[in-house]
Amino acid sequence: MAISSELITATCSHCERDIPTLNIDLHYAHCSRNLQKCAICGDMIPKKHADEHYNEIHAPVDCSLCSERIERELWSLHKGERCPQRIITCEYCEFPLPAVDLIKHQEVCGNRTEYCDLCQKYVRLRERINHDIQFHSSPGDTAEPPRDIAPPVRERANRRRARATSRSRVLLTIAITGAAVVIGSFFLQRVEDKQ
Ligand SMILES: [Zn+2]
Ligand SMILES: [Zn+2]
Ligand SMILES: [Zn+2]
Ligand SMILES: [Zn+2]
Ligand SMILES: [Zn+2]
Repeated sequence: MAISSELITATCSHCERDIPTLNIDLHYAHCSRNLQKCAICGDMIPKKHADEHYNEIHAPVDCSLCSERIERELWSLHKGERCPQRIITCEYCEFPLPAVDLIKHQEVCGNRTEYCDLCQKYVRLRERINHDIQFHSSPGDTAEPPRDIAPPVRERANRRRARATSRSRVLLTIAITGAAVVIGSFFLQRVEDKQ
């Protein structure tokens, strides 16, 4: 019989949506009075929230870290991977510092040495992970030093380690700057050379 009048639609000339003909006049009155089309994304938005919409969705962002003005569509990229001032943690000392300083810092920081109890020698931090995988990865490894080394050897190693450690600990507290780190590894190297 008759097609339900709900199914007959007309296009609103303001928002370009299909509206049941029955409601079109009412819709158009409301639509044209209250909504406007965003010139950037084309969404229909309430006129009174147009500024908000622009500021929250489209306005460039002033990065508080590097003070650059960043286009909105690049913002998450900037924040996550591009901002030179974003804070990253050094993989060796876990000190947080701006990305722009990280490469230089890690070059120095990764050159520091750390005493490997198992091998009884110093290993560069940058080689430490590979070192552990290559020489010390056995299932259920507890990273405990072995208990079966002959006492004299162990004692000497301990004494040497204690000295190196206390010295490096003092230095480590100030090793935040690259310079201190350089001095630190220099000292450790000297300790090593003397013995
Ligand atoms: Zn409309
Ligand atoms: Zn928009
Ligand atoms: Zn930035
Ligand atoms: Zn570091
Ligand atoms: Zn080792």
